[in-house]
Amino acid sequence: MPSSLAQEIARERRPARGEAVSPDWYVNAWSEAESLGTERVSAFVLILRTRGCYWADLKGCSMCGYAKDTLGRSATPEELSRQLERALRKYRGEPYVKVYTSGSYLDEREVDADSRGRIAAAFSGRARRFLVETLPEFVTEERVRSLRESFAGELEVAQGLESTQPEILDRFVNKVSTPAEYLAAADRLRSWGAHPKGYLLLKPPYLTEGEAIDDTVTSVERASPHFETLSVNPVHIQNGTVVERLFRSGRYRPPWLWSVREVLQRGAAVRGSSRLVSFPTAGGLTRGPHNCGECDRRLLRWIEEGSLDQRFDAALEPDCACRETWSRQRELEPLGGEA
Ligand code: SF4
Ligand SMILES: [Zn+2]
Repeated sequence: MPSSLAQEIARERRPARGEAVSPDWYVNAWSEAESLGTERVSAFVLILRTRGCYWADLKGCSMCGYAKDTLGRSATPEELSRQLERALRKYRGEPYVKVYTSGSYLDEREVDADSRGRIAAAFSGRARRFLVETLPEFVTEERVRSLRESFAGELEVAQGLESTQPEILDRFVNKVSTPAEYLAAADRLRSWGAHPKGYLLLKPPYLTEGEAIDDTVTSVERASPHFETLSVNPVHIQNGTVVERLFRSGRYRPPWLWSVREVLQRGAAVRGSSRLVSFPTAGGLTRGPHNCGECDRRLLRWIEEGSLDQRFDAALEPDCACRETWSRQRELEPLGGEA
């Protein structure tokens, strides 16, 4: 992609000038189903409004529109405190807490060191596991250790690895780091007593459905020795992204839910001891991973239940006539390629 186009899209992703965004309010907070080991639990999810991901300002990843939910400048410690205070009013003692920032919790420009500790400490003694997300370059011993000291429980640190294949990560996802850097950061996290989690992106642009499935299964196999949990994120169309442009011009379809199912079944055989999960965003919608519309809900339920119980049982999966369409489409898709 020409860099001027990438920069133009990066600008589009920012909140529109004059759009009313309060720095005292978090972006969103809700409760969702999760599991800790074999126990089903509720998780409290909080998205803080911060400066956002620095890479999104420069070029950004092809599928990521999270910069829309940012301030466009660093939040002050006082603003972050007010966001936390408001979020705590919604907190009901869920044992699993996930705090996202539309970027990196460990980037000083997004969450300063004091606020980082203060936010974690607010859930200490109340939650059993505290999860944050970051890019690998911010995984330093000092930041991880001080976060562990602030939270008396398990610290889980997630990274958006997306793919272990360097060419796919660099050219199609447009990430700034290499897969090796993500894997090394996961190893560092484990050595400092944190629990590494990796997100894998199913179907970056420019891949056929079949190539995308193979890419994610390969990534599960290669990444599993480094991550305690691998979460498969099928692409959903976010505003102001390269993927959205391709989608609008008819050159991209979000993955089928049948593809998610295949990734989970084949991935389960090669995941080693890591947990393999998928909780698709916008599942069943045109802009999210979807099937024919008739079977989407049933298959989404199978995916979520399998993720919570760690059992992707083929005998329990629903069937539908559109499975044949998906299968035939996969066979025909590569015909436009090599002669
Ligand atoms: S996917 Fe992650 S690294 Fe890429 S632009 Fe979005 S927040 Fe930044
Ligand atoms: Zn169907």
